Amino acid sequence: MTAHVKPKALTDYKPRDFRMLIDGAWTKGAGVIERVAPGHGSVVSRYPAGTRADAERAIAAARKAFDDGPWPNMTGAERSNILLRAADLIAARADELAFLDTIESGKPISQAKGELGGAVDIWRYAAALARDLHGESYNTLGEGTLGVVLREAIGVVSIITPWNFPFLIVSQKLPFALAAGCTTVVKPSELTSGSTLVLGEILLEAGVPAGVVNILTGTGPEVGSVMTTHPDVDMISFTGSTGVGRLTMANAAQTLKKVSLELGGKNPQIVFPDANLDEFVDAAVFGAYFNAGECCNAGSRLILHKSIAADATARIAELARKVKVGDPLDPATQVGAIITPQHLEKIGGYVAGASQAGASVALGGEALDLGLGQFMAPTILSGVTSDMAVAREEVFGPVLSVLTFETTEEAIRIANAIDYGLSAGVWSRDFDTCLTIGRKVRAGTVWMNTFMDGASELPFGGYRQSGLGRELGRHAVEDYTETKTLNMHIGARTNWWAR
Ligand code: NDP
Repeated sequence: MTAHVKPKALTDYKPRDFRMLIDGAWTKGAGVIERVAPGHGSVVSRYPAGTRADAERAIAAARKAFDDGPWPNMTGAERSNILLRAADLIAARADELAFLDTIESGKPISQAKGELGGAVDIWRYAAALARDLHGESYNTLGEGTLGVVLREAIGVVSIITPWNFPFLIVSQKLPFALAAGCTTVVKPSELTSGSTLVLGEILLEAGVPAGVVNILTGTGPEVGSVMTTHPDVDMISFTGSTGVGRLTMANAAQTLKKVSLELGGKNPQIVFPDANLDEFVDAAVFGAYFNAGECCNAGSRLILHKSIAADATARIAELARKVKVGDPLDPATQVGAIITPQHLEKIGGYVAGASQAGASVALGGEALDLGLGQFMAPTILSGVTSDMAVAREEVFGPVLSVLTFETTEEAIRIANAIDYGLSAGVWSRDFDTCLTIGRKVRAGTVWMNTFMDGASELPFGGYRQSGLGRELGRHAVEDYTETKTLNMHIGARTNWWAR
């Protein structure tokens, strides 16, 4: 059996009651959503079940805060200072935030702490960009013309986030929208709203004025649908499944809102015979089982050169057996719980489907009964072919599919033969091989001799059905702006009538 750490019951933990944040006030809402910890099986949080009316009030507050100010009219330096204060307060409350993400999502506590460190860095990076947002000027248009291109905050932004990286993903969106001068309505997943609500407290304390950040809890169909259709919303920034992303875009089309989408992935790692296999094997295990595979960037498809496939698969299985699965609160745990029992069933369905289609289970393949919560054993499927669902669809669980190739062209064809294009990895000691794959694979990020590294400076996003637009990087603030041209005339104007 896989190495495991049995969860300890949360007998002394009193479920935390949260409120929503609308126009600077904490409000209860009409009903209650209870969150059962996926790794411990007991209720840990209660949030208000937001309604359409709550969503309309939040959007009205954001609209007023944008139209009347002061947030969009502050200097970049003033907004930057508030974002820096927020970063310091997030750092000061990092243990509390990481604990909430761990008990609500089931991710390991050591990993959640790492994500908080990454989030603090993003808030600081966005604060720096707030002072550098600028347009262009054209002094080359002739004696009588000066052109100035302004960047203006786009307005009210709806931010909708998923459950797999609750604090990290809101941090990839909100500080950049705020840096640009936008006002926002934020909806975290109904499964993991706690840390985003604590962020609301932090932002008020940091000096963000009432109405600039409103945080709604509740379900997507009830609250999210208003956020994506309301005429007073100017832009939607969404991270989640490709299906709901498609719906979001269709909703936005009614009033032609700008849309930014970060969606699913089915990310290949292509491995050549000259690769450093020791390094790769570790990256393969990390890429597949980090966050229990509930990760848009998961390296869920290995495309191995035939000559090394058997050896590499055996070594990955050997290492994967040692990965500690279990109690998310134990500092030694590397793979935590699966988000819901229904999701665990869905993952099991993919494994069963692949076996029926001719793949072999080289490791795991079943749920792990650890007494409390729901867990899945790290799984490896070998003999997978491109036509199988497990090779084309996002499993969002700890399931690694192994495919093989013989020529570079074939590897590229297999890598690109799916609807997604979020990220990819290539392993070779040959510079030409890495660059050829880097150029030909259609994905927003290509890692070379590493996997799932990142930095606030590096843009992130997908090709094709993995999304639209990019987050992070130096252009991230510009995404939340409109472009305005000031076309200025100098001196006497040539009269149209007399021309
Ligand atoms: P979902 O698409 O189900 O949900 C994402 C968010 O959208 C949630 O807040 C959800 O609310 C909300 N939502 C659901 N229905 C609607 C609707 N009709 N209108 C507006 N909002 C709605 O994704 P999951 O939460 O299940 O997250 C997992 C998915 O996210 C995976 O497929 C993964 O690939 C993708 N993802 C992509 C990332 C990327 O950057 N590319 C990063 C992380 C995840 P609620 O659930 O509360 O009802």
